[in-house]
Amino acid sequence: MVAIRRKGHLVHPPVPGKEEPLFKKILIANRGEIALRVILACKELGIQTVAVYSEADRNALHVRFADEEVCIGPAPSAKSYLNIPQVIAAAEVTGAEAIHPGYGFLSENAHFVEVCQACGVNFIGPNAQIIRTMGNKAQAKATMQAAGIPLMPGSDGTVETVEEALETAEKIGYPVIVKASAGGGGRGMRICNNAEELPELYNTARSEARIAFGDDAVYMEKYLLEPRHIEVQIMGDLFGNVVHLGERECSIQRRHQKLIEESPSGALSADLRARICETAVKAAKAVGYYNAGTIEFLLDKRGDFFFMEMNTRVQVEHPVTELVTGIDIVKEQIRIAAGKKLSFTQEQVVQRGHAIECRINAEDPWKFTPSPGRITALNFPGGPGIRVDTAMHQDAVIPPTYDSMIAKLIAYGSDRDEALARMRRALDTLVVEGVKTTGPLHRKIIDHPDFISGGFSTKWMEKFMDELKAEQDAAKG
Ligand code: ADP
Repeated sequence: MVAIRRKGHLVHPPVPGKEEPLFKKILIANRGEIALRVILACKELGIQTVAVYSEADRNALHVRFADEEVCIGPAPSAKSYLNIPQVIAAAEVTGAEAIHPGYGFLSENAHFVEVCQACGVNFIGPNAQIIRTMGNKAQAKATMQAAGIPLMPGSDGTVETVEEALETAEKIGYPVIVKASAGGGGRGMRICNNAEELPELYNTARSEARIAFGDDAVYMEKYLLEPRHIEVQIMGDLFGNVVHLGERECSIQRRHQKLIEESPSGALSADLRARICETAVKAAKAVGYYNAGTIEFLLDKRGDFFFMEMNTRVQVEHPVTELVTGIDIVKEQIRIAAGKKLSFTQEQVVQRGHAIECRINAEDPWKFTPSPGRITALNFPGGPGIRVDTAMHQDAVIPPTYDSMIAKLIAYGSDRDEALARMRRALDTLVVEGVKTTGPLHRKIIDHPDFISGGFSTKWMEKFMDELKAEQDAAKG
C-alpha cells in the first residue's frame, strides 16, 4: 500500500476492511492548540488536513503538522481567522470537503455556516438556525422557557429602557446581573446591588455591549451569590439521537472566565447528576440539536439549577470529559458531520475516574496581565495520566494579537486524589521560560484546603486572590 507523503510526513491510507473515510480532506479554520487537536483527530481517522494561518502564525505547529497550508491574511483576526471569503477560498482551492471551526473565531457565526452551505462545504457543527437561536442569549432563554427548562428568574427577553430595568429588578429582587444578549467569554456583564446604581450600570452595560459585540441588547437575571457553574456535554446526530457525556465543574473562575475544570463535579449527588444531565438532553432536543454542544447551568446551594446558556461548539475544556468517558469528542463531531449515527448509546457512556484541567496562560500569575513574548525554554510534563493539549514549541512567539493560552494540562486519576497528585507533579515539572505563566497560581489553588475539600463556588477565586494579596503584603513587611 502506498502512503502519500507531503511536507515530509505521512497521510495514513484507509485501513482495508474498515468503513470508507468520512471526509477525504478537512480544513481547520482556527489556530493554536485546538487547530492541532483537530489535526490529530483527522490523522487518526485517515483524513487529510488543511491549515489556514495568519502571517503571525507562519511557524506555528498547526501549520507544520497539516498536510496543506494556506495563508489567509495578516495578523489581526478580522483580516485572517475571521475573514470568511478567505477561509472559504482556501477550502475551495484545496478541495476540502468540510471545515472544522474549533472554538472562538467563526465557530458560532451563523452567517459563516450559511456561506459554507451555499458553497457546498460541510460545516462541522450544528446548522445556522440552531446557532442563531442559541447564540443570542435572550432568545436562547425564551426558547428554553418554552421547552420547560428551569431558568434563572429574570427579564422576559431583552430590557429596552432604564425604567424597564428598574421594574424588572424590583420584581426579581437585588442583586441582579445585566448581561449582553450577544455576550461571550465572560464579557458584557454588570452586577448591580441596588436601585441607585442600576441606571448607570445598565447604560454602561449597553454601551460596552455595543462596542464589544456590535449589538447593545441586554437582558437581566437574578444574581446568585455563591453558585457553582456546572455544564453538561451533549452530543447529537442527524437522526435525532441526543446523549449526554456527563458534567463538568467549572466554578474556579476569574472575571467570569474559567481557570480550572474537572469532571465529575463533587457538588452533585447521583440523583442531581441524573436530573441535570437529563435536563440538558431535553434542552438540546428542544432545538433539534446535533453535533457537540454544552449546556451551562448555575447550581445554587439548595441544589436548584438554572439554564444559563448553550455553547454550540466544542469547548476548551472538552478533554476532561474525554478522559472520564473515553470518548473522542472531536472524532465524533467529524463522524456526525459526515452523516453517521452516534457511535455509542446513552447506556454506553460511563464516567470513570476523575479528570482536572488547568489552563496555562502567558500571564503574570498574580497581576493577571498578559505576558506575550518568545518561549526560550520549554518542558511539558508527561507520565501516567497526564495529557497536554498545546501548540507551543521552543522559540515560539506568543503574539499579543491572540489569546494567551500556552497549554491545557489535564490530569486523570482513578479518583480525585490521584488526579490532584498527578496535576501537582505535572505543574512541578512544567518549565516555561521567556514568558510568565499562570502555572504557579494553579499550583497554589490546587493545594488550597477549600479546593481539596471541594467547597468552592464561582466567587471563591475573589476570596483567594484577597488571601494571596494579604500574604504578599505581609511578606513585603
Ligand atoms: P459568557 O458567555 O460570557 O461566558 P455566561 O453567561 O456563561 O457568560 O456566564 C459566565 C459566568 O458569569 C458564569 O459561569 C458565572 O460565574 C457568572 N454568572 C453569569 N450569570 C450569573 C448569575 N445570574 N448569577 C451569578 N453568576 C452569574
